[in-house]
Amino acid sequence: MIIESIVTGPMQENCFIIADENTRSGFVIDPGWEAKKIKKALDKHGIEDVTILLTHGHFDHISGVSELKELTGAKVYMSPDDDFLLGSVGGSTAMMCGMGNAKRFEVDEEIHEGDTFTAGEITLTAMATPGHTPGGISFYDGKERVFAGDSLFEGSVGRVDFPRSDGKALIKSITEVLYSLPDETIVHCGHGPDTEIGHEKRTNPFTLNPGYLM
Ligand SMILES: [Zn+2]
Repeated sequence: MIIESIVTGPMQENCFIIADENTRSGFVIDPGWEAKKIKKALDKHGIEDVTILLTHGHFDHISGVSELKELTGAKVYMSPDDDFLLGSVGGSTAMMCGMGNAKRFEVDEEIHEGDTFTAGEITLTAMATPGHTPGGISFYDGKERVFAGDSLFEGSVGRVDFPRSDGKALIKSITEVLYSLPDETIVHCGHGPDTEIGHEKRTNPFTLNPGYLM
């Protein structure tokens, strides 16, 4: 299996490539910015057949989608519950962050809870983890890793002070969905380092004291 993380843009967003070595097909999760850098990484691994999966619709996770789509012809999948965020690409906040010239794009297919995405021997299952945004999705590979977007970070959780964020829903997504995965599951976060489910269960101050967010 090929796995690579690429830090993109001024918000230091983590984009992930996960692909099957034999079929050279796979996924780009959250191409936030710097599509050319992501394409270079795909080329380095000889990956030609890719699908773009989005954990949520914040501009720092999706501003590279349009260009990467042009470079690869990939289809884009996202939860329809985050469609209201698509207009933030190239918007005023993105502009203030130096990401104003990103082009908007259309989502090709909706993601719903339980959907599966397969490339060679890799199968990712979509788990609805709303809270940071209403359409938050985590992708679990069924054995050792989960891509959690901005739901869960090492020692922290996603912000819930955005319009339509919901602290109570986020805590529920983390404690009932993500924490139901085996303790040794690696969590690939939307920003910052990887962590592990068991480590967060034992030490994450926000899930130990959920009152902070509720
Ligand atoms: Zn976000």
